[in-house]
Amino acid sequence: MDKIAIIGAGTMGNGIAHVFAQNGYAVNLVDISEDSLGRGMATIAKNLDRMVAKARISEEVKKATLSKITTFANLENGVKDVDLVVEAATESLKIKLELFKNLDSICKKSTILATNTSSISITQIAAITKRADKVIGMHFMNPVPIMKLVEIIRGYSTSDEVTQTIMDLSKKLGKTPTEVNDYPGFVANRILMPMINEAVETLYNGVAGVTEIDTVMKLGMAHPMGPLQLADFIGLDVCLSILNVMYDGFKNPKYAPCPLLVNMVAAGKLGVKSGEGFYDYSESKKAEKVSNQFA
Ligand code: NAD
Repeated sequence: MDKIAIIGAGTMGNGIAHVFAQNGYAVNLVDISEDSLGRGMATIAKNLDRMVAKARISEEVKKATLSKITTFANLENGVKDVDLVVEAATESLKIKLELFKNLDSICKKSTILATNTSSISITQIAAITKRADKVIGMHFMNPVPIMKLVEIIRGYSTSDEVTQTIMDLSKKLGKTPTEVNDYPGFVANRILMPMINEAVETLYNGVAGVTEIDTVMKLGMAHPMGPLQLADFIGLDVCLSILNVMYDGFKNPKYAPCPLLVNMVAAGKLGVKSGEGFYDYSESKKAEKVSNQFA
């Protein structure tokens, strides 16, 4: 396994490209947007600079890492001769099904097709291809260069051999792979999202304010970040979409997204990326609590 293609140069794609390249793999970073490719490479360079400044890597390692990454705005050129594709494009079933159909027809027969999806069924993605045994979930955590976990998700038809290859590869990247089966939310989000949803529900019910809820969970449970702040970092739209996948997938009301979360997403309050969520991230009020009508 020498040559890897990463599809999507956004938050996750550039982090995944960084980690593969730093571990010596030749990486083709593919995106439909030239702007995203430019931003993705700039982010990788900035993150490597920070590692050099902290003396965690040398200037030579930084240069070698950057030289391993080639960018492509054309899917076919980026994936035709690779051994593994890790897809990290926008979280949309339509986009992923179209991508996997194309990947299946362009890539070598032996190429493993992995997806970094947070919630979409690996089995459903695999079924659009003629190589369901070689389709697998490789769910990295954000920020990828720092977080150790990779949740490895076996679709219904994923083979033992492909699972073992991806487990071994994740270890070579310095990560801790953990194998799970393909059910809505997998393990990470199946447990995390109900906690975040319950925190929003607690706010919605007027039990406590934003800071109070986060303080209880940070200091009381030793969580590095409270659930509402974490939701702001993940993106409230992403949280809502994952909850909806679990709600639809299990047909169980316990996963129904809180109406306050639904309203905030409808109002465009998506968290850090939109400048406001449960906290205000505008320059003047960075991370100050947004006054809320419920607490
Ligand atoms: P993002 O919006 O930051 O980046 C997505 C990128 O995909 C964009 O650059 C976009 O131009 C590109 N893209 C869209 N359609 C494409 C196509 N057809 N071909 C090539 N590129 C295409 O998204 P993200 O946060 O990096 O999420 C990517 C994936 O990773 C999603 O499946 C998401 O669920 C998953 N994920 C996200 C996080 C997180 O914390 N953000 C964590 C784990 C997993």
